[in-house]
Formats: sequence, C-alpha cells, structure tokens
Amino acid sequence: MTRSQIKPWITRNIALVAHDNQKEELLDWCKKNRGLLSRHNLFATGTTGALLADCLDLPVHRFLSGPLGGDQQIGAAIAEGKIDILVFFWDPLEPQPHDPDVKALLRIATLWNAGIAVNRTTADMLITSALFEADYPTKRPNFIGGTELSSFAQVN
Ligand code: PGA
Repeated sequence: MTRSQIKPWITRNIALVAHDNQKEELLDWCKKNRGLLSRHNLFATGTTGALLADCLDLPVHRFLSGPLGGDQQIGAAIAEGKIDILVFFWDPLEPQPHDPDVKALLRIATLWNAGIAVNRTTADMLITSALFEADYPTKRPNFIGGTELSSFAQVN
C-alpha cells in the first residue's frame, strides 16, 4: 500500500435509532451528513434502518425493529465492542412499549463509554468533532469474573 492509499480516518461503527416521532428528524440529519456517514459502517434498528438505506442509498446493517428486540441487539453489540457511536433520537414526549429496552440501551451505551447523541444538537457536535474520525483511545470497563481489575481499560 502506498502512502497516498492510506486512509486518513478511523472507520467507526455507528448505530442509528429513532422513535417514530423522531424518524423524520434523524433522516434529515443523516441526509445532511451523508458524505461523512458514507465513510463509516452504519447499523440501525429495523424500521429506522430500512428508511435510512432507502433515503441515503448506503448499506445499513439492520437489527430487529426496536420494539421487537432491536434496541437490545444494539446494546449487546455495544457491550461486545462492535459499535462505537450511538445516535439515538428517542421520543421524550411519548411512552414506548419497549421503554425498559430503551433505558437498557442508554445505560449500556453509557457504561461502555460509546459516543452518544440523543438529539440533533449533540449529533451535530459529535459528527463535527475532530475526534469523530480520529484514533481516539476509548476507555472501556474492565471486569473479569466479578473482580474489578481496573475501573476502565484503554482500547485501541
Ligand atoms: P425501529 O425501532 O427503527 O424499528 O422503529 C426504533 C425504536 O423504537 O427503538
């Protein structure tokens, strides 16, 4: 590989989720940021992912629909180190049938120190950050067999 072929950015695994009342906002945000998003691996819950793949014309790995377990699948992927960033436009005005799953996803994403954006302002700030595509050493919790080795370990 020649020097000019070296990719000057880190490829992120980004999960995108929106509740029904927030889907339009997320789609609009993704359309405006399509260029940057196209450089990364995109994941989403079922319905959000179908809409995104269609309007962005980009590959989007789709988990189950959120109410059917998709939020939990994304949480598991975060815990396994397979997702770096969660953009989750959840609805603060409507209760959801899967509210426990929503809470669990936000908890696990916080615990595993993922980049999290829950509204347009934080999503804008996250994606325009110099660290968004940089080689950022994310700290992860580090427990083995119930014994805390250290509260956080560096990854990367
Ligand atoms: P959906 O799920 O993309 O399948 O609508 C989103 C959610 O409610 O978590």
